[in-house]
Amino acid sequence: MSLFYPGYYHTHEFSSTSAQMDANTAKREAASAKTDVTFLEHEVDRLSLISEALWTILKQRLDLTDEDLTKMITEIDMADGKLDGKKAKGGPRMCSGCGRPNARRHVRCMYCGELMKSGPFE
Ligand SMILES: [Zn+2]
Repeated sequence: MSLFYPGYYHTHEFSSTSAQMDANTAKREAASAKTDVTFLEHEVDRLSLISEALWTILKQRLDLTDEDLTKMITEIDMADGKLDGKKAKGGPRMCSGCGRPNARRHVRCMYCGELMKSGPFE
């Protein structure tokens, strides 16, 4: 671009202002993301604390062991056939009437008509 181009200085100035606006937007978004991460870390810490407190109460009152908990965690993890440290999402739900698997969208068992029950973590 020629320095003699009538719009050069204006365009250059606009571009610089636009870049500054982009930088300011990026700074705000980065600060917001950092705040979100800090909040989520706090929530994970809080839930971990609650989980440990609940487990301690259960262990003491029901004479359970850490091995019982580990076994149950593995069983829940393996519900989708993968030991990946995650809870299965969207897998089939077993009918309490006939024990057959049903898609989660079914309100009643497609085999026996039993009302499908959903638990507190579904
Ligand atoms: Zn059924």
